[in-house]
Amino acid sequence: MPSAISTDVLIVGAGVAGLWLNARLRRQGFSTVLVESASLGGGQSVKSQGIIHGGAKYALHGALTGASEAIADMPRRWREALAGSGELDLTGVRLLSDAHYLWSPGTLAGNLTSFFASKAVRGRVDQVKGDQLPPALQHPKFKGKVYRLAELVIDVPSLIARLAELAGDGLLAGQKIEPLLDNGQLVGLRVDEREIRAQRIVLSAGAGNADLLDALGLSQPAMQKRPLHMVLVKGPSLKPLYAHCLGGGPKPRITVTTHPAADGQWVWYLGGDISEAEGVAREPAEQIATARKELGNLLPWIDLSQARWATLRVDRAEPLQSGLTRPDNAFLAEQDRLLVGWPTKLALAPDFADRVLASLQRDGIQPGHPPALPELPRPPMTQTAWEQLLP
Ligand code: FAD
Repeated sequence: MPSAISTDVLIVGAGVAGLWLNARLRRQGFSTVLVESASLGGGQSVKSQGIIHGGAKYALHGALTGASEAIADMPRRWREALAGSGELDLTGVRLLSDAHYLWSPGTLAGNLTSFFASKAVRGRVDQVKGDQLPPALQHPKFKGKVYRLAELVIDVPSLIARLAELAGDGLLAGQKIEPLLDNGQLVGLRVDEREIRAQRIVLSAGAGNADLLDALGLSQPAMQKRPLHMVLVKGPSLKPLYAHCLGGGPKPRITVTTHPAADGQWVWYLGGDISEAEGVAREPAEQIATARKELGNLLPWIDLSQARWATLRVDRAEPLQSGLTRPDNAFLAEQDRLLVGWPTKLALAPDFADRVLASLQRDGIQPGHPPALPELPRPPMTQTAWEQLLP
């Protein structure tokens, strides 16, 4: 029988939300245990595009209302953390691009006029031309307009590796999670028969939160899953591109990010409208054909003859929402010792941690200095989708 453990905060789910929170808590002197049932970052986090949004994209359909939205401050907070001077020391995490771009492929001036009139965007967007263009767009045939957004793109595998370092001895590989009750009150969790008592329990298990709540006999907060069908392209002729390509509608027609494969080639990872509803309904071969055609139309000078293609189905997990617009804040619900939430975006992991810390502070929870942890079985790192699908 594994030994019983006491800790200040017990976190379930080692995606970016749990790992970031864990590192912030440890930095403030709290003891923590972070339980992961599969691999570190292997849920949505390492499958994300790594864009640290500042909200500019959402100004396209007027959903961003301005200063009240936490997302506007995220690029600054991440930049400071990456420089080692922020709330966490993320030096060593690879920055893939210092900016994300918005590119209109031709005749979408009308759409852009309202975009630039939006308060959320003013002062945060510059038009770029010539050799300032992203390398993949530097071609005489390129006709569109390109704007630089004050957002960044990070290499998520290196982020997860750094956050795992900051987790010290507190990571625990654990499969079976049950409530630990004292007089009917939740006081911790039983993880693979090991009792873990904690002042607070945080569920940050992404799509796994619903089942965990079920195991605790709770039905709230309700969760929704938004399926995506992403496309990956790998080829020797690809150059870096980090951009939303505008279509006529409120959502980017396609969002391209570029990721380094172990063999030195670049992988383009395609999301945006192409990966949503109609894309989800397509079979993989059809989805690849659609993406191939889209890239052929938008970037005809890119030689894709030797490219290899794959698709990836993945769900985004979020709190259930009634309206069509998504909040640009992390979500946290509280019930006695239990806190449950979703950052809703990788970029909003700092906001998720803020909300948990604010709750601890409000309830007067202090570091309790429990005994040192025994050696715990550690969950493995995850592999990226491109290494798995396009080795
Ligand atoms: P996850 O990363 O899903 O982590 C949850 C963890 O909990 C997993 O490791 C899982 O194994 C573990 N778990 C589940 N059940 C249990 C259990 N019972 N016990 C123990 N552990 C459990 N956001 C951005 O800001 N920018 C982007 O560019 C971006 N692009 C995206 C692209 C795609 C294709 C997708 C799907 C999402 C994207 N997002 C983006 C959103 C972002 O990825 C997520 O909001 C964020 O990663 C969620 O982090 P998380 O830690 O809550 O969840």
